[in-house]
Amino acid sequence: MKNADAATAESPVITIRNAAATAKIIVHKLRGNLSVLEGSGGNITVLTGRDGKVLVDTGITRPRVEDALASLSDDPVKHLINSHWHFDHTDGNEWLHSIGAEITAHQNTRKHLSVATRVEDWNFTFPPVPADALPTKIITIDETLHLNGATLELKCYGSAHTDSDISAQFQEDNVISVADTLWNGQYPFIDYGTGGSLDGMIRAAEANVANTDDETIVIPGHGPIGNKSQLIEFRDMLVAVREKVANLKKQGRSRDEVVAAKPTADYDAKWGGFVINGDFFTKLVYAGV
Ligand SMILES: [Zn+2]
Repeated sequence: MKNADAATAESPVITIRNAAATAKIIVHKLRGNLSVLEGSGGNITVLTGRDGKVLVDTGITRPRVEDALASLSDDPVKHLINSHWHFDHTDGNEWLHSIGAEITAHQNTRKHLSVATRVEDWNFTFPPVPADALPTKIITIDETLHLNGATLELKCYGSAHTDSDISAQFQEDNVISVADTLWNGQYPFIDYGTGGSLDGMIRAAEANVANTDDETIVIPGHGPIGNKSQLIEFRDMLVAVREKVANLKKQGRSRDEVVAAKPTADYDAKWGGFVINGDFFTKLVYAGV
């Protein structure tokens, strides 16, 4: 999918990496030994304990994330899970591996990080990452880990935001990291170039709703820490926008005509204030129906 401004605009990858270099990291204590670091790319989930820290995702910058991790406990980082292949969740793989973290990810995360990968909507081609930054513990089906006294279930979404998304659910504490299948209060990106799909995003949203209860703490890939009712709102927004855009496309309207019809107008005030505005989201949805 071509973005008309892509040739001249700075890639959002550059903008986001630059912003992360100076962003403050906010540490949120959740339950038990679980915390979230917010402010460097995607949210980072941290479980501390004597088996070593377990991280879900890395954020972008080393120094601030390293300081925030040190503020939680003295446990070394031993385990890192990549929720999917995107840079704002994996840029820290190399340094975290260098201090002792074994990296676990879906096989498609390893695949996309291993080769040059273009994201047309971001006007950016990611070079292959260094060998030390590649996940070495590869999962293809759901798996359960036992670390720091926690039962940690990793579940593969299949095609959703990409083709590499996995959730990480901490059973005893009733906390789930749902990767970029939830952008809490924000329109999500859908990366069709690496196997994402709109209907897969909706299926993932349904699975998240089914997999949580009123007490569950939900860690989104982007946006504030949330709960089940926000998963439901997000699912309902996806379904409603899909229906509006699909109806217009069925009438034979071109992508630009659909964008001009503003099918997201009722939703933009709530969801369109972050990286992806209503027009961009409409283009993403148009490509998926
Ligand atoms: Zn992502």
